[in-house]
Amino acid sequence: MKRALLFLSVCTLIYTSKAKSQTYNSFYGDIVNSVSASNIIADLTTFENLGIKSNGTTAITNAQNWIVSRYQSLGYTDIIEQPFTYSGNTTNNIIITKTGSVYPNTFLIIDAHYDTLNGPGTNDNGSGTVLLLEMARLLKNVDTEYSIKFIHFSGEEAGLIGSNYYVNNTVIPDNLDISLVFNIDQVGGVNGLINDTVVCEHDMSNPTENNAESLIKTNILATCIGLYSNLNTELSHAYGSDYVPFENAGKIITGLYEKNETPYSHTINDVLANMDPNYLYQVTKGSLGAALEFAVGITTLSTEEVTPIEKKTLKSIPTLQKE
Ligand SMILES: [Zn+2]
Repeated sequence: MKRALLFLSVCTLIYTSKAKSQTYNSFYGDIVNSVSASNIIADLTTFENLGIKSNGTTAITNAQNWIVSRYQSLGYTDIIEQPFTYSGNTTNNIIITKTGSVYPNTFLIIDAHYDTLNGPGTNDNGSGTVLLLEMARLLKNVDTEYSIKFIHFSGEEAGLIGSNYYVNNTVIPDNLDISLVFNIDQVGGVNGLINDTVVCEHDMSNPTENNAESLIKTNILATCIGLYSNLNTELSHAYGSDYVPFENAGKIITGLYEKNETPYSHTINDVLANMDPNYLYQVTKGSLGAALEFAVGITTLSTEEVTPIEKKTLKSIPTLQKE
């Protein structure tokens, strides 16, 4: 049975090599297994201690400088701080680019906002911020076919101002070739609850031409979460975060959001003690597996050494549900 399965799997891989069958990839799995729960908690603690990162504060500037220094210490050199001004204050998007070896001019964008409202925002969106940092650490020395941009947006809480600025001043004028925008916003879970499910968000709004591809990518995301974490997935619609300006510009988007929604977002109580860092650890593992799938991580092993058989049973994906 195992032999037959292996043969079938190899045939399937050959047959669908262009269509990307999402089976467990042990090369990706080994990278995912290096996600560090203690790194995540250390970064969340630093983020929390930076304070309330709202427009015009020293805290948001300190957060910006901290994020930049973290990428520098990881060895990234292509780091752009993109200033923009609203309500009389200047703040910055932070854009880190890792160049792909086959399609250097096509970009997987993985983004999270780092500005916060009324509180330290450890969940909203320290969780997405440190998830990106941990992914970037583990992807640094992995060759990928597609280029990756890690983008930390500012001005999200004031109405997606940073992401709108980036789309209008970089994406559209540069005609940036984006394979996918993968947005991560508020994936910290709720302390005391069973946090075992993450919501995978796809595009159901106008314009509609990009909706079908968003659903395809979001199903791949959900499959990868099932393969590389212990979480269940649910599909829902994308709304109210930094993927929206990209969506409006016709780009393909997907996103993650916690299933148990914190009651503390945008309050002083959005702190580590009220979230579930182990949930964020699992979301990070699943996200990293998905990022490797989307950017196409290139194994350093010969193909014979890579076992294509999936190690875990795929979690079923429940039917679409609306808000
Ligand atoms: Zn948010």
